[in-house]
Amino acid sequence: MANSTKSITDNGSPRYKNPSLSPEERTNDLLSRMSVQEKIAQLTQVWGLEQMVGMGMPHPKDMAGLGVGSMLYVTGTEDKNKYQKIAVEETEHGIPLLYGTDVVHGYRTAFPIPLAMACSWDPDLIAKAQHTAAKEARADGIAWTFFPNADIARDARWGRVGETMGEDPYLSAKMVAAQVKGFQGADLNSEESIAACLKHFVGYGAAIGGRDYEQVNLPESELRNTYYKPFQAGIDQGAESIMTAYMDLNNEPLTASRHQLKEVLRNEFGFDRLLVTDAGTIGNLITQGNAKDGADAAERAMHASVNMDMGSYQYLQNLPALLEQGKISMEDLDEAVRPILMTKFKLGLFEHPYSEHGKSEKLAADPASHALARKAAQDSIVLLKNENHLLPLDEKKIRKLAVIGYSADSQVDVGAAVVVGVPAYAVTPLAGLKERLGEDTVLYAPGPFAERTIPNFLSEFIADFGFESPKPQTWEEQTAAIEEAVRTACEADVVIAVLGESGEMSGEATSRSELSLPGRQQELLEKLASTGKPVVLVLIGGRPLAVNWAQEHIDAILMAWQPGREGGHAIADILFGDANPSAHLAMTFPRSAGACPLYYATTLTHQPVDQQSQPFSRYWNELSSPLYPFGHGLSYSSFTYSNLRTDKKEIAVGETLTVSVDITNTSKLDGQEVAQLYIHQRWGSDTRPMRELKGFRKLLIPAGETRTVTFTLGPEELTYYSTAKQAYVQDAAAFDLWAGGDSCAQLHAEFAVV
Ligand code: BGC
Repeated sequence: MANSTKSITDNGSPRYKNPSLSPEERTNDLLSRMSVQEKIAQLTQVWGLEQMVGMGMPHPKDMAGLGVGSMLYVTGTEDKNKYQKIAVEETEHGIPLLYGTDVVHGYRTAFPIPLAMACSWDPDLIAKAQHTAAKEARADGIAWTFFPNADIARDARWGRVGETMGEDPYLSAKMVAAQVKGFQGADLNSEESIAACLKHFVGYGAAIGGRDYEQVNLPESELRNTYYKPFQAGIDQGAESIMTAYMDLNNEPLTASRHQLKEVLRNEFGFDRLLVTDAGTIGNLITQGNAKDGADAAERAMHASVNMDMGSYQYLQNLPALLEQGKISMEDLDEAVRPILMTKFKLGLFEHPYSEHGKSEKLAADPASHALARKAAQDSIVLLKNENHLLPLDEKKIRKLAVIGYSADSQVDVGAAVVVGVPAYAVTPLAGLKERLGEDTVLYAPGPFAERTIPNFLSEFIADFGFESPKPQTWEEQTAAIEEAVRTACEADVVIAVLGESGEMSGEATSRSELSLPGRQQELLEKLASTGKPVVLVLIGGRPLAVNWAQEHIDAILMAWQPGREGGHAIADILFGDANPSAHLAMTFPRSAGACPLYYATTLTHQPVDQQSQPFSRYWNELSSPLYPFGHGLSYSSFTYSNLRTDKKEIAVGETLTVSVDITNTSKLDGQEVAQLYIHQRWGSDTRPMRELKGFRKLLIPAGETRTVTFTLGPEELTYYSTAKQAYVQDAAAFDLWAGGDSCAQLHAEFAVV
């Protein structure tokens, strides 16, 4: 009789090849057949770019023959199918390769960067965008994205804030969960789904000084009340994988942290799926001064329950000896391989290992995807300021429009997704405005080019994907460019200054110690304003910018972020009122880099600063309040909030109460509002933040109409991790409530938990 775990099906093929069996059954069968070498190879993810072979990495072709589990960065279906054929046809059990890459804000169709999408406060919209990305990626053979980024970003200097959902755990949790849903759909075994990966577990965004890769120190209460939250939401949504973070958390590199990975993530949060390292982090354990050598590093990662080694090859090199020496057991090895095989079975890779050339491009030509990218950009562009009704512009009154700024004509700066995006698809602000008004109406001058003072160490790598930066200019060339821009402005009725950060000024290893407009753009802006022409400032970039002078002197300011392939259209839509702005900031804008980290949910302290009336500032040189607070965002409509009420004055611990508020669109224009609910617990086991977001709703309110929005507050919203009690608690206490369109909302009510 056939062995139950290693039996064959009726037609004589092994059980693991039978798609009607469950992923568990198939995994058990396959595991029972695999050799130790095969299992170890499955734990390895290989760099798939041939360019990297020149940098001393093994050739992906050889690695495919070895039966490695996964490859990242293999571009094009030809290479993917080539390596896949080797894996499927030439290795003992024909286990297909799992191809992964960073599908961050779109695959071929670039959507706005994640922080911009977070400003839409629209989980359904981001889910739809990531679903489009999943379809395009899967068609191209990518079945696994290293996204969403579930890091909390509270320091605008950090280069990767643009990849995150911003500063707030509640908003981030909702938007992370929505992305998991968008990527994975109802079933991973679909040509429209890819496996999501929550990253970087955990605390990566809190790097000291906002300097990427630096150590992070976070107390238990911060981890539990803030940094774990988006990860927990992603796990609850069924995220198929999680990535460890690069840095040391409280002096422990995450990839070796048994506490964070095994005790918290696996045992407490119940995550039993694929845990992958960040790039090279097992090898980094030596560099970081934690592991003695490669064997020590591999052993630590195994004991911390890491399944897959992203590109350090330490598992491959060291696990055979560690097994022989009994430092890891066969059970450890089986437990490490199991989630990898499970993911492959769930994705249906054994049945559909290959991809079809050109299919992704065909999908990217779908007008529905362009329309979605345009809507996503319209809903992510934040109207920061609009005095004297400068916006929307009246087309009839414009004879000539001057568009100024380098980014206005840069397809890279508007945000084609690096590695997988196609810069040539992107509609720039200049192109969008010309399309809207006609070539003859739009004048253009780039102004001075602002470059990084220190080049990105990844720039050569990025250039390979068509993201080359322009040639630097001399001081004289910049001066001439400013003069030309001012002359152009003088010929126009309105000036659109598209300024900010270029594509290579944010991203990995791209932190900044200033938040002003880079290069000589401030000088340019002041000269444009001094022409007396109405100036609209359209900010491009991947982080909040401290545009204090502009806030005082420029009538209209839009934060357009890196708005993706349809960015130019969307900017024109907003400027001319074809779309009504509805985005609200997911991250505070500080007045200077020195104020970072700056976020709204800090505790009162013994000397509270009232952000409204500013009785004093924490600094003597400038106000310590934000330039634009979290949640801020204007519309061409206007909304008033009234009648904030609760269904009960008091609830017992564990009970739930309902909060309602009426919102009236007092303007003559239909508009979308983001209604936000904040709470404050007045006393308790610990001190609690002066405000915490505990509910939001984005809704369309027709002109002149009123809508009632209802939120519920119960144990989930009112429980927190207490340092004093070293446990999750829900205190009996009095609570303040505020509802409004930003984190400074003034409409107030109260309730008590008794
Ligand atoms: C980044 C990850 C990314 C990985 C693969 C690393 O440098 O930190 O976020 O997923 O590279 O591209």
